[in-house]
Amino acid sequence: ASHLKIENLNVSIEGKHILRDFNLEVKGGEIHAIMGPNGTGKSTLASAIMGHPKYEITSGSIFMDGEDVLEMEVDERAQAGLFLAMQYPSEISGITNADFLRSAINSGREEGEEISLMKFIRKMDSKMDTLDIDQSFSQRYLNEGFSGGEKKRNEILQLLMLEPKIAILDEIDSGLDIDALKVVSKGVNEMRSEDFGCLIITHYQRLLNYITPDKVHVMMQGRIVKSGGAELAERLEAEGYDWIKTELGIED
Ligand code: ADP
Ligand code: MG
Ligand code: MG
Repeated sequence: ASHLKIENLNVSIEGKHILRDFNLEVKGGEIHAIMGPNGTGKSTLASAIMGHPKYEITSGSIFMDGEDVLEMEVDERAQAGLFLAMQYPSEISGITNADFLRSAINSGREEGEEISLMKFIRKMDSKMDTLDIDQSFSQRYLNEGFSGGEKKRNEILQLLMLEPKIAILDEIDSGLDIDALKVVSKGVNEMRSEDFGCLIITHYQRLLNYITPDKVHVMMQGRIVKSGGAELAERLEAEGYDWIKTELGIED
C-alpha cells in the first residue's frame, strides 16, 4: 500500500502558528496538487512531513501506511517510502550523483539485498535517457554548480531511481522553461501507478497541463479551504484566488 494520512496537523515555526488543523490523505494511484498564494504554508507542510527540525509539530498526526511518521527520524521517513524534492536542494561537494543515488537506494534495503553495480548502472542510464540528461551527469558532484533546471531534472532522476511510495514535489516547476517542464512531467507521469502517490505543490497551473491531477486543493492561511478536480486549477489560473477569498469571507 501507499497511503499518507495527515490529520489535524498544527505546525509552528519560530513561535508562529502556520499550519492550522491541516488534513489531507494521499493514496497510491493518486496525484494531488496543492495550490495557494505565497506564504500560506505549502512549503511548511512539505518540511513538516519530511521532519525538518525547525518546524515544530504542536499537535496532530502523520501516518504512512499506518506507521507514525512523527516518531521517525528523517532517514527513516525516506526508508518508509516518502520522497521530498526540496524547493532549494542543497549542494553536497565530494559526492557524485551516482554515489549518492546508489547509497540512497541501498540504505532502504536489507544487507545482502543491495542493488548490484551492473543493475544500478543500467537503471541509471535508462532513467537519464528518459529525462534527456547527459551521461556525464552521473559523475558530477551532487548539485554542485548545477543550474536551476539541472537541479530540478536531478530531483526527478532521484524520484525515478528511488521509486518512493509517496512523493512531495515542492515548486518543482518554478523557473523551468517549457522543455524542462515537459521532461519533469514525463518523469512524474512515468511513475504513475497504483503503488505511487504524488503531492505536487505549485504556484502555477502550467505544470498541471502536463501532469493531470486527480485532485486539486487550494491552501490559504495554513489549511485546505477548497478541493476539486483538475478544472479547479484552470479556474485559479484564469481568475486568481480572490473569488475563493470572497466565497469564504477571508480577508488578506
Ligand atoms: P508557501 O510555501 O506557501 O509560500 P511557507 O510555508 O514557505 O509558505 O511559509 C509560511 C509562513 O511561514 C510564511 O509566513 C513564512 O514567512 C513563514 N516561514 C516559513 N519558513 C520560515 C522560517 N524558516 N523562519 C521563519 N518563518 C518562516
Ligand atoms: Mg513560497
Ligand atoms: Mg513554498
